[in-house]
Amino acid sequence: MTEVVSISLENEMDLVLAHKRSMKVAEKLGLTIATQTTFATAVSEVARAIIEYTDNGTLTISIEQNKTRYALKANVIFNTEIKLTAGDEGFYYAQKLVPEFELTGQNGGYVIDMKLGLPRSLKLDAVKIGILRKFFHEELPLNAYEEIKRRNSHLHKLTAEQEEELRRTKLIDEKKTEFISIASHELKTPLTVLKAFTQMAKTTKEPVSDRLRGVLNKIDLQSNKLNSLVQQLLDISRAENGNLHYAMQQVKLNSFIADQLAVMQSIMPNHTINSALGEDIDVMIDILRMEQVFSNLLGNAAKYSRTNTSVEVSSGLNSEGHITISIKDQGIGMSADTMTSIFDKFYRAEDVSKTHAGLGMGLYITSKIVTDHGGKIWVESKENEGSTFHFSLPNCEVA
Ligand code: ADP
Repeated sequence: MTEVVSISLENEMDLVLAHKRSMKVAEKLGLTIATQTTFATAVSEVARAIIEYTDNGTLTISIEQNKTRYALKANVIFNTEIKLTAGDEGFYYAQKLVPEFELTGQNGGYVIDMKLGLPRSLKLDAVKIGILRKFFHEELPLNAYEEIKRRNSHLHKLTAEQEEELRRTKLIDEKKTEFISIASHELKTPLTVLKAFTQMAKTTKEPVSDRLRGVLNKIDLQSNKLNSLVQQLLDISRAENGNLHYAMQQVKLNSFIADQLAVMQSIMPNHTINSALGEDIDVMIDILRMEQVFSNLLGNAAKYSRTNTSVEVSSGLNSEGHITISIKDQGIGMSADTMTSIFDKFYRAEDVSKTHAGLGMGLYITSKIVTDHGGKIWVESKENEGSTFHFSLPNCEVA
């Protein structure tokens, strides 16, 4: 069966469309004017009756092939609570006009099929039917009403497609989060055991050769790196599930920052960290989580810049009385495009993926921690000139 035209039957305006379209299909097939009118009248009668009962009918006109014979078919599908029979007015007249009429229905869902055998003299074949279908597919709207109707139906289709796409993406994202959660928990246990045994071996009283001690130190270092990656994975799944918990406490900000900078300076000896801290205020923070923020931002500043360059850390109160902390590097910077996505989960700039190791988790977690503290995070950057990451934190009085 080849569908040629489909019209939704919602109101009286659709009657005109149903009539004109069925007339045109019959005309294009080469039927006589009398047959065209008969078919179109039968379709309109049925459409009129349906519009009386409901606004959810769909009329489809198609060509049906039965072995070597073809038939012109009008099919109407609709729902109504009203009990209908083929003898009802409208249907009754239509039956008089077309050779085959069938009304079937149950549980309020109805189908009407009307059929008209097509003469062999029309010499129909698949090619001719294809051309007919294309003609109606490309035909301009009959009037402004049909144009709006087509646009509406196009929009509905697009909305439905987008909703489906969204549903699928959400499902994939949920599966991914579930996988991350399971994987990170599964990795955590053997890693803890590995670290414990390495520590035991490192502190053993038995004699250990220098070479073996070197190997143990390497294992320890690499398992620390692995541990920090697994920790980030765990944090991501906690953040997704709303399970990032905070133990907030009041802290003098400047001495907290100074401690962080001292620790980070020892971790990044090839960069110089300079600081210019403003007014010292009290902030409410989760110390461990805020340490993570500094370690991620300073770690990135070092990772994405050449050795022997400096990193400037400054702080100051903004107009809302919140403290803003800025971390400025002289590194590779980033494009405006990259800037819009860096706080997204697993995002990494394309060129960076080839040159720097990483999984794109740090800034996602950092931004989550900052916003959970009631602050904001943003970046200013220029390619090849460096980046400045800023984040604000409410002070104690404001918080
Ligand atoms: P990772 O460093 O593991 O890729 P992040 O979430 O910390 O993950 O960073 C995401 C991306 O943001 C990085 O891949 C990089 O493209 C960009 N980025 C982050 N910090 C900087 C920086 N200081 N300078 C330039 N690009 C940066």
